Amino acid sequence: MSSLAIAGGKPLRTKPFARWPEFGATERTALIEVLESGIWGGYSPAVDEFERAFAVFHHASHGVCASNGTVTLEGALLAAGVGPGDEVIVPPITFAATATAVLRAGATPVFADVEAHYNLDPERVCEALSPRTKAVIPVHFGGHPADMDAILALAREHGLTVIEDAAHAHGASWKGNSVGTLGDIASFSFQQSKSLTAGEGGILIGNNAELVGRARSFFNQGRVPGRGWYEHIHLGTNQRMTAWQAAVLSAQLERLPGQLERRAQNAAYLNQRLSKLDFLEIRPPDERVTIHSYCLYTIRLRPEAMDGVDVAAFTKALAAEGIPGAGYYPHPLHHNELFRKYAFRATECPRALAACRDMFWISHEVMLAGRDDLEDFIAALEKVASGVKELAGA
Ligand SMILES: *Cc1c(COP(=O)(O)O)cnc(C)c1O
Repeated sequence: MSSLAIAGGKPLRTKPFARWPEFGATERTALIEVLESGIWGGYSPAVDEFERAFAVFHHASHGVCASNGTVTLEGALLAAGVGPGDEVIVPPITFAATATAVLRAGATPVFADVEAHYNLDPERVCEALSPRTKAVIPVHFGGHPADMDAILALAREHGLTVIEDAAHAHGASWKGNSVGTLGDIASFSFQQSKSLTAGEGGILIGNNAELVGRARSFFNQGRVPGRGWYEHIHLGTNQRMTAWQAAVLSAQLERLPGQLERRAQNAAYLNQRLSKLDFLEIRPPDERVTIHSYCLYTIRLRPEAMDGVDVAAFTKALAAEGIPGAGYYPHPLHHNELFRKYAFRATECPRALAACRDMFWISHEVMLAGRDDLEDFIAALEKVASGVKELAGA
């Protein structure tokens, strides 16, 4: 095998992967409609329309858009009455916002370890409970729904609010039920890196009108329906989504079913091909997952086959070979400097620690690729793995 690109060899591939996000005439038309309507802000029929369409897509009865998927988590927590003195259980394998939203609500995050699919482990959630626990935020990591049966049972028993962080899980489902309707309220992000995007944006959906309504009031300066523009009933802020974002999102939502289908087909192909490579471990989804949205396709490197080479070195070498979209978390979330400045509790998280050494992902753009692109991806994995000696010495 030739020398690795990262060590000065020739890259396996120089052709770019297809551009993300995909867009065309529908997005252009929708944006021009907003332009010509003269209604560019959050009080726009385009926002109402997307709110309804996204909720309906997930079989939820209510939705409220906001400017991003971080404030939606804050809004959900505040709507659930979470505040100072309360604890909220979160996983350590997630983006920072899952836990910083808890701090911003004045409450304390409590980190509980993940299971084999990098989602909150219900048994560890059980150990993390205290009399102060008010809510739990399962993250559907990568688009693989968390074990909602066990988490909901626990939540019902202990009177906890369940806030789904579905930032990776647009269109995913668990036992035939869409994410976003499994817990009490669910938060999605439309930030650039997500599998449904307008560059920035977020939404809360759910079947609890009161919860979603309180969040709406928070995003909209504490206003409530039926009262005037200058009537502020609650302490709120302005986190309204703009008409531009909503128009793009409505057009993008039409593309989502086809994209989910392509990603599922590519994942099935990769599962079959990659499970033959002895330096990797591919974990098939939990049998109760009916749609994995593959915002991230996770791969575990077998440390014993890798000569001490970790995911940091491996993904860097993969990028040098011309494969985009590989990522990993360098440490569990609660090991970030930020959290040392705040009170938080963490139970032992050995699985999260291991995941930061040996788990990486390929993002959804690559999961939309054609078969030839996937072949290059597989060849690059094999090339980098066969060059670990070179890497270890680099
Ligand atoms: C991206 C993300 C968020 C935050 O969304 P933004 O729209 O970027 O604010 C929250 N949770 C998870 C798991 C995410 O990946």
